[in-house]
Amino acid sequence: MTDASSSPKSTSSTAPHLTTQMLINGELQAGEGHLETVINPANAEHIVRIAEASNKQIDDSVKAAEMAAKLWSKTTPAERAGYLLRLADTIAKNAGYLADLEALNCGKPRHLVERDEISAAVDVFRYFAGAVRCRPSTAAGEYFPGNTSMTRMDPVGVVAAIAPWNYPLMMLAWKLAPALAAGNTVVFKPSEQAPLTTLAFAQWVSDILPPGVVNIVFGRGESVGNGLIKHPGIRMVSLTGDISTGQKVLQAAYRTVKRTHLELGGKAPVIVLDDADLAKVVQGVTEYGYYNAGQDCTAACHVYAEKGIYEKLMAELQASVSRLTFNDPDDAKNDLGPLITERQRNSVASFVERADELPHAEIVTGGAIPDVAGYFYQPTLIAGVKVSDEIVQREVFGPVVSVTCCDNEEQALAWANQSEYGLASSVWSGNIKRAMRLASQLEYGCTWINNHFLLPSEMPHGGLKRSGYGNDLSMSSLENYSVLRHIMISHD
Ligand code: NAD
Repeated sequence: MTDASSSPKSTSSTAPHLTTQMLINGELQAGEGHLETVINPANAEHIVRIAEASNKQIDDSVKAAEMAAKLWSKTTPAERAGYLLRLADTIAKNAGYLADLEALNCGKPRHLVERDEISAAVDVFRYFAGAVRCRPSTAAGEYFPGNTSMTRMDPVGVVAAIAPWNYPLMMLAWKLAPALAAGNTVVFKPSEQAPLTTLAFAQWVSDILPPGVVNIVFGRGESVGNGLIKHPGIRMVSLTGDISTGQKVLQAAYRTVKRTHLELGGKAPVIVLDDADLAKVVQGVTEYGYYNAGQDCTAACHVYAEKGIYEKLMAELQASVSRLTFNDPDDAKNDLGPLITERQRNSVASFVERADELPHAEIVTGGAIPDVAGYFYQPTLIAGVKVSDEIVQREVFGPVVSVTCCDNEEQALAWANQSEYGLASSVWSGNIKRAMRLASQLEYGCTWINNHFLLPSEMPHGGLKRSGYGNDLSMSSLENYSVLRHIMISHD
């Protein structure tokens, strides 16, 4: 393990180079606060210790963003697009290095990070570079005689963007790209568990963007995150995280009436009707229920299967899930990695233990902590659970899929909508009329039909109910990071 205060270099000749400095007002600087240890969850080894931002550094970063906003908010969409494209190109040029870092920090299969996450981050910056130049035109007109009215979309101001650990660089892209494109300046805080790609990105930002437009501070939620959300200079807080963290953001926001954008948890129902293509369902649930070890708010984590397909589905899913590979020395063979922390792994294990105690539930495959270093958990499939069971109602955020048998589509719909979450869902059926009927009534921000998980940059991603509000991705996100204003001109 290295200590950032003594050396920012990596621990071995094969490990990727680590940068551990934050970015405040265009200057890379070490934190002056508490030292936090970053751990590789694939082997439980310490990677580096990084000092978090002090209160003064949090304050400096907000002031730098306020100062930078004066010029950045006056740049044209074309100018901002140019900057975003440079950021995208830099990420693309360093894709291999960033994949190394993300794999080291999160224990993920490296080949999947490079294929899916880094390319998605690049695409998001490129999408918003284009989107901000093609915003829908405003409706100017004489709504009072002798006066012309028009609307403007202006920046909100300084945005505090706070990200989780499950897709660190991708979450950075989802937050930074629309906020910057809309003309805001940002103080960004990555998860204290997974900061390495963000800190690598910080050094490139310092070369590309004017000072203060993006500031990156490192630290824990209860110290640095809390300092940011309470800061009077912050106009908007954009959080992706847990519901309880969202509640803290709301409590802090009410004092100064900050705008909030909350992407919180999810528990995605997968409704499988009798006429679904069984092979496609098995492939979809196996891939999208366990991807990223299930640490995904849209993971296909609970299946409602109609009784005519239930038995066949369980048999095939058992075979398919038990073939999933983890912790193989050959990275290309791994389908999933570990949980991010020992605590998270133990939380997943305790959910499964409690489900196992239910008389009606059956662990069909998995259900144990494997005897390996690191925070892995066996890919687990649980049959026969009831809609009221904890494992159906609560977000496990691990490689665990549960299945409930239902009588018909009406029952599946009612049960799926009983959830307190409302982020993502899917319907699998060979009959498009049945699938559309369900899709139109599901209370979820997204419903896939005969698919799950895929999120194009052009489409909105956001939740209903306790999954939060506001959209990431799409034109809608650009609007979330903007204020709509009315200008009226008298020409009498
Ligand atoms: P978390 O809420 O613990 O942490 C998220 C971020 O909030 C971290 O940067 C953390 O430091 C910060 N934070 C924690 N306490 C804070 C406080 N008091 N004040 C300010 N900031 C604080 O969540 P996590 O464990 O990192 O991520 C997992 C959660 O994120 C899951 O619930 C998951 O569903 C959710 N998530 C949602 C989406 C989505 O798009 N809806 C995407 C990914 C993850």
